[in-house]
Amino acid sequence: MTTALVTGATRGLGREIARQLVAAGHTVHVGARDEVRGRAVAEELGARAVALDVTDDASVASALAQVEAEGGLDLLVNNAGIAMAARNGPDALAVLDTNVAGIVRVTEAALPLLRRAAQPVIVNISSALGSFAANHDPAHPASRVPAIVYGASKAAVSMLTVQYARAEPGVVVVAVEPGYTATGLGGADHGGRPVEVSAGTVVRVAARVVHGPTGTFWEEDAERG
Ligand code: NDP
Repeated sequence: MTTALVTGATRGLGREIARQLVAAGHTVHVGARDEVRGRAVAEELGARAVALDVTDDASVASALAQVEAEGGLDLLVNNAGIAMAARNGPDALAVLDTNVAGIVRVTEAALPLLRRAAQPVIVNISSALGSFAANHDPAHPASRVPAIVYGASKAAVSMLTVQYARAEPGVVVVAVEPGYTATGLGGADHGGRPVEVSAGTVVRVAARVVHGPTGTFWEEDAERG
């Protein structure tokens, strides 16, 4: 049994990843920027609530202090993310702050705890929209979706994965593309995989990579270069 922290776990993929981790017997911290909602979700799932806004240094520090006080951390799932169509201005900056700087803030604060774990794993939730291969493949749906800033933010998530894997040889760091999913962000009424299926991909990869390989990118359960 391990202890996990899932960021952005109030709804969508994060909530379902947390639910499946609890069902698999793990102790799970539900990270939520809305504390009231976080407590409600944690209670529903049999998890622990942690107030955590990934864009706020003080919130991140206090969240990881709580996780440490409650016993440490084996698995960090950097899931919190937003998608905005804006190509410039505050909305575009918010995408980069949440999706890229947010992962750096949480990872930096979590690493001291993860380094003390027996088999520490970080899973970063990426997207095909940030994949060069997918964007260059006319047959891949990602090549037809305009996502200038969001796509760039997810490409950065892949590079953060490679860089953290290299910098932290004692921690397995992977990126997972969960697949286009029917959530608030994916668009519940525009098709996409059921959230249970996509979250299942993330949870299976997290279990499968405890011994590595680190620095890898996973798409629907298969490793992709
Ligand atoms: P949702 O919009 O359904 O959920 C996003 C979650 O992130 C919410 O819990 C939200 O909290 C939280 N969040 C947003 N900003 C912050 C913040 N500053 N601090 C903490 N939490 C925050 O999106 P999905 O579940 O679809 O997306 C989850 C991840 O999966 C994202 O990283 C996304 O990019 C990625 N992804 C999604 C795909 C899809 O098709 N849905 C495909 C590929 C990747 P709140 O409830 O407070 O708003």
